[in-house]
Amino acid sequence: MKTYQNYINGEWVDSKSGQYTDVINPTSEEVIAQVPTSNAEDVDNAVAAAKAAFPSWNGLAVDERKAYLEKVLEGLKAHKEELVDIVVEEMGASKAFSRDNQVRKSIGELEGSLKALDRFNFEERYDTATVIKEGSGVVACITPWNYPLNQIQRKLTPALLTGNTIVVKPASDTPLTAIKFMEIIEEAGLPKGVVNLITGRGSEAGDLLAGHEDVAIISFTGSTEVGRGLYDKASGSIKRLVLELGGKSALIALKGGDKELAVAKSMNTVLDNQGQTCAALTRLFVPEDELEDYKTAIKDFYDKEVVLDDPADEATKVGPMVSAKQKETVEDYIEKGKAEGAEVLVGGGKVDRTGYYVDPTVFVNVTNDMTIAQEEIFGPVLCVLTYTDTEDAIKQANDSPYGLSGAVVGPEEEAKAVARQLRTGNVFVNDNPGSDQAPFGGYKMSGLGREKGYYGLEDYVEIKAIFEN
Ligand code: NAP
Repeated sequence: MKTYQNYINGEWVDSKSGQYTDVINPTSEEVIAQVPTSNAEDVDNAVAAAKAAFPSWNGLAVDERKAYLEKVLEGLKAHKEELVDIVVEEMGASKAFSRDNQVRKSIGELEGSLKALDRFNFEERYDTATVIKEGSGVVACITPWNYPLNQIQRKLTPALLTGNTIVVKPASDTPLTAIKFMEIIEEAGLPKGVVNLITGRGSEAGDLLAGHEDVAIISFTGSTEVGRGLYDKASGSIKRLVLELGGKSALIALKGGDKELAVAKSMNTVLDNQGQTCAALTRLFVPEDELEDYKTAIKDFYDKEVVLDDPADEATKVGPMVSAKQKETVEDYIEKGKAEGAEVLVGGGKVDRTGYYVDPTVFVNVTNDMTIAQEEIFGPVLCVLTYTDTEDAIKQANDSPYGLSGAVVGPEEEAKAVARQLRTGNVFVNDNPGSDQAPFGGYKMSGLGREKGYYGLEDYVEIKAIFEN
């Protein structure tokens, strides 16, 4: 079993704590590695390295920074299969999903940010001023486990391209992907201290990093609960925040729309990655008088598509949850759904095998005020709700504390009109697959700011007006 180190100022170093945290494979439930449990001194060292590296990195020409990120992109491509295997091993995402989504997305979105950079104005004349955009300083990147590579990439790429230096604190459940990413960055030859990594508990290392006086921006992806705490923490020294938080997104299936498409879109987001996707379409709204047709379509899809097995097998669609804790949380929600009076259409049981597997479950007869329709479950659970007319569907879809994503399936023009009325940061209309460059982020309690492409770059710059002739 391998023991890993932190990456600080271009060196692999032990934690000053001398303590380690186990990394567990959720399929075998075995300990596969140990990573440092970083303490305050490690956080100070990482932030100091990033702070020292900032002036020269921020002073580089944009094209020089771009050239470094192009090397990182080449490294991601070269190590693609290795990254896929690590995601499968430590997170439990299926191999096909890890390759086609987890790792492919990171490559595609990095390319998207490089393209966006070409049209990003770092300097423009505005009235009597020259307005320049430059790096803000040290960015604390605190990331979750559900997309362990891409959640880091989405922060690291725009932060570095715009002149910032960074300290990454990955999720404790999935630090090995982050460590591999740092090795790729090391290979790309970035100057010392520009990117640093410390592993360890969010409640300790994450908390200290976020509150550090030399951190200019907290860029966090994770739960709304932790995000709210960071919002308070940022106020002490008026730090800027990028928050990508939870979701409870809706797909509205309109009358006259493609039922199979609506079912496949919503079901795939709750089955792939075991539903551990912030933008998963976990509430499917169908016309009241078409519920029986939808039930049949869901059962057919389930029978055909659900292959629950070892995530390392190419044919597997549903692997284990990331951790025993996550399995317990999701199974509790399934029991809560039953207790609240929702009806189990498929699943709803327990999976009797080693690994943190949860039985993929679809509930019907769900009402929007139920806990399972309001709270983020973050597992393979779909809630099917009914509506009387389109106005009612929009009202119910928007009746959520979250506003991350959404989808509408139906006659194109009507679906487009409904999409404009959803209070969410993304809406997918019919079979549009989305984009690696379009902005991603949430309304309401789903967050602050946007990631990806042009809009992702904007979140990391300071703006200065110089009044010069
Ligand atoms: P989490 O518990 O909030 O943890 C996220 C990260 O924050 C981890 O690195 C965690 O470290 C760290 N952390 C925990 N407590 C902290 C504290 N007090 N101060 C600073 N850092 C702290 O979330 P999660 O369970 O890993 O991820 C699932 C959540 O992420 C879901 O709610 C999901 O919707 C959301 N998410 C949102 C997006 C988006 O783009 N909107 C994308 C993906 C996921 P430890 O791992 O050591 O606890």
